[in-house]
Amino acid sequence: MPVYEYKCQVCAHRTNVRMSYKEYDRANPRCTNCNSSSLDRIISKVRISRSEDSRLDSLSDPSNLSGVDENDPRSVGKFMRHMGNEMGEEMGPEFDEMVGRLEAGEAPESIEADISNLSEGATDPL
Ligand SMILES: [Zn+2]
Repeated sequence: MPVYEYKCQVCAHRTNVRMSYKEYDRANPRCTNCNSSSLDRIISKVRISRSEDSRLDSLSDPSNLSGVDENDPRSVGKFMRHMGNEMGEEMGPEFDEMVGRLEAGEAPESIEADISNLSEGATDPL
């Protein structure tokens, strides 16, 4: 059951109210210090999880793909960089190189050929 935190507008005392989402709709919490009902909801953890949700939504939102021209390496590179940023993870030097070369207007086929050659060379001890 989530905990909702309120700050009293009268005495600034903070009150935690544990209740279900259903109860929250009809809740009329009161300050535990002065019994005032003039409470401001303090948004803390709930807001953070919402922003994570919206971040994931933007990742899965197909409209993000609509602006990408697959025949334009710069457009693809920009999209890939955006995806990399959204993931918030280190995508590795190969990803960085690929995005950089796409953004420079290089054809994806030639970049992929180069990168697969590099990978083969790296795994081959000879
Ligand atoms: Zn109060």
